[in-house]
Amino acid sequence: MTLPVEPLGVHEGLAVNDSDKLHEECGVVAIFNNPEAATLAYLGLHALQHRGQESAGIVTSNREHLRQHKQMGHVAEIFAGDVLKKIKGSLAIGHTRYSTAGDSALLNAQPIMVQSNKGMIAVAHNGNLVNAAAIRTRLEEKGSIFQTNSDTEVIVHLIAQSRETNLPNAISDALRRVEGAFSLVIVTLDRIFAARDPRGFRPLAMGYIPHGGDNHKDSVVFASETCAFDLLDAIYVRDVKPGELVEVGPDRTESHFFATPKEQSACIFEHVYFSRPDSIVFGRSVHASREAMGRQLAREAGVDADLVVPVPDSGVTAAMGYAEESGIPFRFGLIRNHYVGRTFIEPEQRVRDFGVRLKLNPVRSLLEGKRVILIDDSLVRGTTSEKIVRLMRNAGATEVHMRISCPPTISPCYYGVDTPSKEQLIAASHSVDEIRQKIGADSLSYLSLEGLRTACAEGDKTAYCTSCYTGKYPTDWVDVDSLAPVGAGR
Ligand code: SF4
Repeated sequence: MTLPVEPLGVHEGLAVNDSDKLHEECGVVAIFNNPEAATLAYLGLHALQHRGQESAGIVTSNREHLRQHKQMGHVAEIFAGDVLKKIKGSLAIGHTRYSTAGDSALLNAQPIMVQSNKGMIAVAHNGNLVNAAAIRTRLEEKGSIFQTNSDTEVIVHLIAQSRETNLPNAISDALRRVEGAFSLVIVTLDRIFAARDPRGFRPLAMGYIPHGGDNHKDSVVFASETCAFDLLDAIYVRDVKPGELVEVGPDRTESHFFATPKEQSACIFEHVYFSRPDSIVFGRSVHASREAMGRQLAREAGVDADLVVPVPDSGVTAAMGYAEESGIPFRFGLIRNHYVGRTFIEPEQRVRDFGVRLKLNPVRSLLEGKRVILIDDSLVRGTTSEKIVRLMRNAGATEVHMRISCPPTISPCYYGVDTPSKEQLIAASHSVDEIRQKIGADSLSYLSLEGLRTACAEGDKTAYCTSCYTGKYPTDWVDVDSLAPVGAGR
């Protein structure tokens, strides 16, 4: 697992990214039976761009060949011009990926397409396998040659080597051998498969476009988040279930269970930060969860103040909830510049907090002389929070009370989220008051774990993974070697 190495573009030419945030590893989309499948996959990836900005790819099938296009960069750049016309087909899968920059990363861009003894097949994966390194070693000892250092390729090899001749059985066989987090979409010449690991760590939604395909039949679609469906005019039906493999072919749509569902461990951080607020994730509106987090935070950690100000964009919904519950006015006291490029040249004369100021600007007329409650969705290393608190004070805020809409992050994620090592997680080694002092806030409070669970609860249906807040992992095996650099199904 590689990490952005510097906070928010503090050196010349460095990537200006939110490196003090945890990063999602990728988003996937799949389309079955639509003459515009490549374009729809492209639109779906565009809606999922927030889940990964380093590379993207699409593989299509015209029922005779699979064709692919993948590159480093943003979705809109990668598929500009007539690229989509060159990969026309009626089936498509797509993938957008987060990783650190670097030439070798193109090697790991997905989908991964191979010619196997089961025919042409391409796989796109969101998640992280915790036993990939061990399986890969075994496969290499038996003569397998790997093209990438991605754990997704482990799945491809396992499918190819399965003794099962029937493809759904071969995929099921492969998926039973891997451990960890995976939401997968697979395309062959004439069918799409979609699968989720038995604990259901990462989301995967299923829907359809009415009469979108041949003979006015419906097109079937899958996506990491339902915001992709909205752009495609698709109707959300349900989530792929933990342990389920859905097969969509010309003759049938069939549900196979490759494994008995285990205790569910849906990633709660999807609701805290990763997913778009306009998505339904794990059957629950992300917007509703975030607003409830803010309300709960106001109940748990109220303070006398004049304004509630979000750290945009992801702190906005929680801040709305906090303001409503507390009765303290909500104001956009920090404005985000959305047009900061991926790299930026710092002026020769060093400007303090340059990276943050490039992205966030305080509204002095709102903040001057005010006691401010600043709401953010996470605090990972603390480096950015410190700068933001200083910006607020320099803009005239008399008090800055920091409120975080999740518990302290104390442990790394092994399930497909790019987290710093434990040593870099400030809450792993500092008390809340020590962090408060470090970031220079007048007070600091986090949402409790119980409060977070309550805020994300849809009835009592969803059981969440909260390992990055507890250090207790749901899988028996966490093989750190599986998290090799720039790999790992991301
Ligand atoms: S450890 Fe945290 S980020 Fe990783 S899956 Fe669990 S809740 Fe999500």
